[in-house]
Amino acid sequence: MTAQIINGQEIAAKKRVEIAKKVEDLKSQGVTPGLAVILVGNNHASQTYVKSKEKACNELGMYTLLIKMEEEITERELLVKIEELNADPKIHGILVQLPLPKQIDERKVIEAISPLKDVDGFHPINIGRMMTGQNAFLPCTPYGIMVLLEETGISIPGKHVVVVGRSNIVGKPVGQLFLNQHATVTYCHSRTKDLEFHTKQADILISAVGIPNFINAEHVKDGAVVIDVGMNRNEAGKLCGDVSFEEVSEKAGYITPVPKGVGPMTITMLMYNTLKSAAESFARI
Ligand code: NDP
Repeated sequence: MTAQIINGQEIAAKKRVEIAKKVEDLKSQGVTPGLAVILVGNNHASQTYVKSKEKACNELGMYTLLIKMEEEITERELLVKIEELNADPKIHGILVQLPLPKQIDERKVIEAISPLKDVDGFHPINIGRMMTGQNAFLPCTPYGIMVLLEETGISIPGKHVVVVGRSNIVGKPVGQLFLNQHATVTYCHSRTKDLEFHTKQADILISAVGIPNFINAEHVKDGAVVIDVGMNRNEAGKLCGDVSFEEVSEKAGYITPVPKGVGPMTITMLMYNTLKSAAESFARI
């Protein structure tokens, strides 16, 4: 079998057109969705991510406010800035780019963001709401994966989904979203015994590990859907995922490439969440 490639770039572009239209509608009613991005320090990867987020906001006609803070700032200074943004009616989404310098407690910072502006979906209130199936901001990468499957027409109820990785930002929430859609979910992690036994049972296999070539053809059942969340660099410095793409695509039914797979969906869902927040704030007035 040669897998059908799930083109995240195309699906993201389609979603962004839909978002841009809704932004226009909202603007015509006097509300411009606004995203504040806080960047602390000079982490090169963070600077690149922040730039892409700013660019996406501009392209979709949203207001964007970039706040750069020095590496040495105190936790208190950052919390005060978040309080200001929580109270700013022009801002509907607040994103603090992670990781943060070691003097700052990430948990405290995430919890300081108003759950109504938590467009990353990391606040415990949004996580709890997601777990109980209530209206919530869903974390962007897991949400993007669900949209990729939906747009590809892959049905989820009753499927066995195996998630490798259990981070708070990808592994755990993506498994929960599949459970909410009536899949049977297995989580694997670094202490899992006989990983291959589990992954081979997957109708839908999600790899969110962060190791190049971690998943090979031996891990995959014929015809499975393979979603590669990994964003790694190989020895040549080239961007690659967790999955050995060439060999796995001979066996899988569907596969996401890296780049142009899950990656473009993450920022798209951030834009979607910012729009959702603006629309909900408008409805509350
Ligand atoms: P983390 O490092 O937080 O989590 C990695 C997970 O992989 C952990 O749960 C860990 O298990 C598990 N793991 C590590 N080694 C093994 C092993 N040998 N066998 C089984 N499981 C293992 O990473 P993230 O979740 O933040 O990110 C994962 C990958 O996804 C990275 O490459 C990251 O760059 C990428 N990413 C991509 C995004 C996108 O937009 N495309 C967005 C976010 C992340 P344990 O918990 O036991 O330590």
